Amino acid sequence: MQLRSRVLPRALPDALSVGFLLVVVPLIYWFELWVVLPALYQPGSLLYVFHFTLGSFLMFNIVGNFTYAVLCDTSARRVFVHASRASPDDGWRFCAECECLAPPRSWHCNTCGACILKRDHHCLFTGCCVGHSNQRYFLMFLVYMFLATLYAFVYNSQFIWSRIEFEFPMTLVKLVFPVAIFVFGFDGSINQLYLMLYIVTVVGMLFTGVLCLYQFDLVFKGCTAHEKNKKNYVYSLGWRQNIREVFGNRWYLVWLLPYLQSKLPQDGVTWRTKCK
Ligand SMILES: [Zn+2]
Ligand SMILES: [Zn+2]
Repeated sequence: MQLRSRVLPRALPDALSVGFLLVVVPLIYWFELWVVLPALYQPGSLLYVFHFTLGSFLMFNIVGNFTYAVLCDTSARRVFVHASRASPDDGWRFCAECECLAPPRSWHCNTCGACILKRDHHCLFTGCCVGHSNQRYFLMFLVYMFLATLYAFVYNSQFIWSRIEFEFPMTLVKLVFPVAIFVFGFDGSINQLYLMLYIVTVVGMLFTGVLCLYQFDLVFKGCTAHEKNKKNYVYSLGWRQNIREVFGNRWYLVWLLPYLQSKLPQDGVTWRTKCK
């Protein structure tokens, strides 16, 4: 894996989004395993240990895949090719910003300041582009975020509604504006903090759920977001091969641990198409 030379976010929206994630994810982890879990199960019991282990496994994969997605360099900076071999017919083009030839499926990102191999999009929450080399980690990060927030939602619902009585309309206001109510001191109780964390997990679950559906649709169709908009499916090699193109030859293992090696079949520079 090639490491990115500059891993810190380059733009203010990126820095704010990454900062939000770095504060909220550990906070939710603490809430779930040190507040909700002991309230629902006797510490030391079999179910307590099971949920603690499963929750920690989810957290480990969230942190691991996020770290790999951020550290992995997916730019075209290290691509050297002789001009005579780079034909516009194969999708090569000249990038005026980088002042070099850029491979097919790559696009320039102004925030990252580079052409990105098989660029899908620039992600605010990782502060970098998602492309050929780090797409696997980004997708696994998304999947684990969705699973973790779904898991949290089920147990948080039991926990929250056993502590808080629903009073119309005040509870509804607290649910809709949980951060404002807590931060501006209208209700600084611990229950309001828990309610705020509950809402964060619900929003996170819906957000990552929709993103997972959209991103896996792209994977199965073997295209990037840009190619889908253009209805360009020439790089699709059938759904089985399309999965390997993103998750590598050991695609069935990558969900387990982020650092398991899974070699990608293509180099991100030259691409097989349906016709070749
Ligand atoms: Zn460029
Ligand atoms: Zn970017």
